[in-house]
Amino acid sequence: MRLPRLAPSPALFAALALSAAVPAWAGKAHQHGVAQLDVAVEPGRVTLDLQTPLDGLVGFERAPRNDAERARVEAALARLRDAASLFRIDSAAGCTLAKVTLNAPVLGVTPAGTAAPAAPAKGEHADLDGRFEFNCKGDARPAFVEVGLFEAFSGMKRIELRLVLPKGQMKATLVRPATRVALAR
Ligand SMILES: [Zn+2]
Repeated sequence: MRLPRLAPSPALFAALALSAAVPAWAGKAHQHGVAQLDVAVEPGRVTLDLQTPLDGLVGFERAPRNDAERARVEAALARLRDAASLFRIDSAAGCTLAKVTLNAPVLGVTPAGTAAPAAPAKGEHADLDGRFEFNCKGDARPAFVEVGLFEAFSGMKRIELRLVLPKGQMKATLVRPATRVALAR
């Protein structure tokens, strides 16, 4: 089994600090089958930021056109909202899901959670952004997180990870069917 390769990246860390208000993967190339996932571990908290082409979640990148497509969208959103089973954090850290925020205007999904009219896709492609916030007990730090995105979404082949850990920032890649991401290094 191939383990995620970790490489320190001080330059990236500096860039992130300067652009904290900007979505982490804004401007990142849209590539079908490839998702971006930031995992930030802080005292008492783990935050995961996902950006993925809609293609990897539902197989299309526009508003659903029939009942079968609407059902696929609802199933994908339900899976994402059930984030505690999607992102299984080392139980030693005692983390519980606090909040899920999804943003996919093309599907009519807004961060406020209200149903909005679906926005037309700009061009041929569209993404979903998701933020998953967990609160954790005391000082215990999670040693790993099991990422269940490949199990949930067959269209997802690779996840480019950026890990923001107390000791610094690292990049890693998760390739189907791997699930485990080390957070302790
Ligand atoms: Zn696309």
